[in-house]
Amino acid sequence: MALLASSTGFPLSSVGNARKRPTLKILNTPCTGKNEQLAWIDDDRVPVQESRMKAAQFTQFAAPLEIVTIPTPSPPPNGVVIEVKAAGVCRSDWHAWQGHDPDIKSLPHVLGHEFSGTIAALGDGVTGWNLGERVTAPFACGCGSCRQCNCGHTQVCPDQYQPGVTGPGAFAEFVAIPGAATNLVRLPEAVGFSSAAALGCRFATAYRALAHPDQAALQPGERVAVFGCGGVGLSAVMIAAALGAEVTAIDIRDSALESARNLGATATRRFDEIEDLRADVTVDALGKTETCLAALNALEPRGRHVQVGLMLGADSKPQIPMGTIIARELKIIGSHGMGAAAYPDLLSRIAEGSLAPEKLIANLISLVQLPDTLRNLGSFQTDPGLTVIDRFATA
Ligand SMILES: [Zn+2]
Ligand SMILES: [Zn+2]
Repeated sequence: MALLASSTGFPLSSVGNARKRPTLKILNTPCTGKNEQLAWIDDDRVPVQESRMKAAQFTQFAAPLEIVTIPTPSPPPNGVVIEVKAAGVCRSDWHAWQGHDPDIKSLPHVLGHEFSGTIAALGDGVTGWNLGERVTAPFACGCGSCRQCNCGHTQVCPDQYQPGVTGPGAFAEFVAIPGAATNLVRLPEAVGFSSAAALGCRFATAYRALAHPDQAALQPGERVAVFGCGGVGLSAVMIAAALGAEVTAIDIRDSALESARNLGATATRRFDEIEDLRADVTVDALGKTETCLAALNALEPRGRHVQVGLMLGADSKPQIPMGTIIARELKIIGSHGMGAAAYPDLLSRIAEGSLAPEKLIANLISLVQLPDTLRNLGSFQTDPGLTVIDRFATA
């Protein structure tokens, strides 16, 4: 493993200076899981200093997030530690915080699954990646060795790792990511950290859901109805418009519908005014029983429905009208993110300017503002658009 200089407690090293790279060691009681002292030592095995970082964590579900100082993670074998430069705040974080995600097995916990940054430490066995490289990673990281991963479908790897869910996330100064060869995505210079952070969950998922041949395979001129104009919904609106579709956006908030029009929707409807709505492709970007069923009902024969919004809690088992699905030969497509292998196509569209995820960013905040921001996400009264943390060490 190796380490890059940082202003946040890491000792100094330099990119490309392998001889001087320090190494992270657990100094005591590693078996207890408590009171571990992580320290960086240089090549002469001289302790440098304990490495610690700021993070936002909660100790009980739904209890307020606290800004704490905790040990910096060490890179797993074949993985990396990323110095987080930007992290998106997502409704999935709110659900996880509320205890709706059974994959969070232990507390305290650090959320955050949408991020970008620079490589700060390389685990043993990593090749082809350098300290300081600008990177992101999907929210669902593949194991790298199963059948799905071998086909590039790491987003549905049965043994996937999700930072911020199955492990510590990116609402911190540093985050560890396994499987660099499988999961790291190199960022073009033209794609900023905040834009890249917005891709990890919502934008990338919406892009693959609409554009990929295995998913909706949206064609120019088709009619798309997007239900819910939060982060993923507005992403879907922008992407569908860029792909040449005729987009109708549906929400209950006038401000969200206005945002949708600004991002390319040709029509907008309030959710209680959709009786005559018809579409070739529908997207439930909210993940509620009502929106899922309304989206299915709006489909033309042989239409495709993409379920992107997570169906959690009371909405986890909607009564799907299978009679209608059969009679109209409808397709229901689940979409669960986008593997690292599919990112270059999306990133090239962003770099050339045909897609602009940064337009979806409504708020840039600091880590200390996160507890209030996350609490407000539960009200559904927040501004449409994305909130991105772009300051971690200071207010
Ligand atoms: Zn796998
Ligand atoms: Zn997310």
